[in-house]
Amino acid sequence: MATTRTSRPSRSALFLAPVQYVKGVGPTRAEQLARLGIATVEDLFYHRPRRYEDRRRLATIAQLRFGQKQSTQGTVVALSERRHGTYQFHAAISDETGVLQCTWYGQRYLRQVIRRGTRLIVFGRIERRDTLIMIVEDFEILTGDEEDTLHTGRIVPVHRGTDGLSPRVLRTIMHQALAACADDVPEIIPDEMRRRNGLLERRRAVRQLHFPSTLAEADAARRRLAFDELLMLQLGVLMRRQELEQIDKGYRYAVGDATFHDFLARLPFSLTGAQRRVLDEIVRDLRRSSPMNRLLQGDVGSGKTIVAAAALYLAVRGGHQGALMAPTEILAEQHYLTFRRMLGPLGISIALVSGGRSKRDRDQIRDALRTGALDIAIGTHALIETGIEFKHLGLIVVDEQHKFGVAQRALLRQKGFHPDVLVMTATPIPRTLTMTLYGDLDVSVLDEMPPGRGAVRTFVRGPEKRPDVYAWVLERVREGQQAYIVCPLIEESEKLQVEAAVALADRLRRDVFADVPVGLLHGRLRPDEKDAVMEQFRRGDLRVLVATSVIEVGIDVPQATIMVIEDAERFGLAQLHQMRGRIGRGEQTSYCVLLASTSTEASRRRMDTMVATRDGFAIAQADLDLRGPGEILGTRQHGLPDLRVADLIEDLPMLETARHEAARLLQQDPALSDADLEPLRDEVRAKFDGRMAALSAG
Ligand code: ADP
Ligand code: MG
Repeated sequence: MATTRTSRPSRSALFLAPVQYVKGVGPTRAEQLARLGIATVEDLFYHRPRRYEDRRRLATIAQLRFGQKQSTQGTVVALSERRHGTYQFHAAISDETGVLQCTWYGQRYLRQVIRRGTRLIVFGRIERRDTLIMIVEDFEILTGDEEDTLHTGRIVPVHRGTDGLSPRVLRTIMHQALAACADDVPEIIPDEMRRRNGLLERRRAVRQLHFPSTLAEADAARRRLAFDELLMLQLGVLMRRQELEQIDKGYRYAVGDATFHDFLARLPFSLTGAQRRVLDEIVRDLRRSSPMNRLLQGDVGSGKTIVAAAALYLAVRGGHQGALMAPTEILAEQHYLTFRRMLGPLGISIALVSGGRSKRDRDQIRDALRTGALDIAIGTHALIETGIEFKHLGLIVVDEQHKFGVAQRALLRQKGFHPDVLVMTATPIPRTLTMTLYGDLDVSVLDEMPPGRGAVRTFVRGPEKRPDVYAWVLERVREGQQAYIVCPLIEESEKLQVEAAVALADRLRRDVFADVPVGLLHGRLRPDEKDAVMEQFRRGDLRVLVATSVIEVGIDVPQATIMVIEDAERFGLAQLHQMRGRIGRGEQTSYCVLLASTSTEASRRRMDTMVATRDGFAIAQADLDLRGPGEILGTRQHGLPDLRVADLIEDLPMLETARHEAARLLQQDPALSDADLEPLRDEVRAKFDGRMAALSAG
């Protein structure tokens, strides 16, 4: 940073300036910082300390206690190394109360930086050999100049560093940056909102996050900055929602109850209360002038397909075309068959857009969609391949939407002029997360299972019980039941996965089910082969279906009542739940056997959860507790801005508060056009730039 500047950047510009603006940060440092994801001064300020170390009163050497992690300081009085085996570096440090042997593993460079007489602060676990020693995790060299006051005698932040960039250097850089730019951190939330929630001023929070006087101060700082992130998240999704509400799709459906009647009359059952309620919500959406943007959440087996069919039927009756996108060929094919059965007799034309068709077929379908001769197209991502056009696409339904990337859904949306969008998911996530991830969508929930579902009994058996389990399955199959056998998951390679499936099917055909027709289903079969296998299993010609996790989504064969999952411990909870959702669809009692070695605590807890409940929400919650939100949501995939300070689980109550505050603010000022709100508006824009579309259904 130049000491004399002719023009000083504007306030927030300084905050957003490249980190090289900070004194002491040259090209090398900038490159190191970039490795930590830090490009601007703002990024630097949001690089949250990994932990704090209370160096106000460091323990003296005599005060160190065996088994604890502690910090102390002293002067190096002796050095040694151990070169055979793992390299070890030893330094004995002393203070007025005693001497401590410090050990580092495998860091040969230390002999260049630590000498006799060097003053050190060391942090690590105290162990006992002949005497107390410390296994050093972190250390700092005290230089004796005034800068040391930054590193001792206070609560110091310990930031995550990188090669060549130690916590000490980072701390110095942070200190410089704060001195130069903390005053330029723009306040973004209205004073009144800040006070109402007992939050610090932003610039104070930024300072205090890195250099707190007490740990409570550090916590208050974190809370303030977490609130900002959550508020912006909620503002982003709510503003996106407003935007959609302002769009006029240019027509309205005049959907009357009579239209529905022919559809309902043909169903072999009556709708559940939940299905009726959800359909009402959808009809209300369709009648409005702005596009529907709705998420339908319903556990496996809750009957989402009928809802999709009804909605598409209404769209077609309203003079438009519809599209249904499914994540796998098998599921698309199944939907195609179901829809043809349900809607065909009502005079609706339906086509399967599949990668596996002849070019002639594909061209024909393509033409018919373009001219509007076809009413409904069903397919996988093949639906969004270039070259497919609709004459007037009015409604898009995305099944199992969590299986699609954000970009894929967005592409489909572009095929229509402000189409209505219904996305369906069987992966229940806790409500608060729903409103974050899908905060810009209206949410419908199918919270009632169709009647007449048999119980599902789940058992966990160790691998040694495999022969017994298969003998039992064989007996059941001979009595006329149908079974799925799910192959072990091999994530590394689809090829290996397929080989394992083929081998398992061969073995079972030879050793166990010699006189029983056994089918095999995996991802590498040609689409027509998959169809043939599924069709035979549906008809009951195949009694046992050996399958990879391709059957995880959507498959609906109500008479199948048995499922054995091999190496069940390799699957996540959500996947196990989805797979088990393939059985228990008929009236008979179904059985799920998890062949699992429950050697680890985590796998045991997963299996226990599966045995304990069949409720998707309970399982999702358990999953969340076990794995944390990051892994489950894959926030990047969902297109949400990264959270640098806030934690969706820990800060759940704050997330709700932020949502209320966001709604309140937008109610007063929908576009955040008040001059005072300009910094906030800018930040929301910057954070959601290019991501607003990603946040919506399409
Ligand atoms: P999912 O929500 O998992 O997609 P499906 O739509 O595949 O569930 O429905 C599961 C099964 O329940 C299907 O066999 C379907 O025909 C049946 N079903 C759906 N709704 C009802 C209902 N109201 N009454 C009886 N059976 C129903
Ligand atoms: Mg389904």
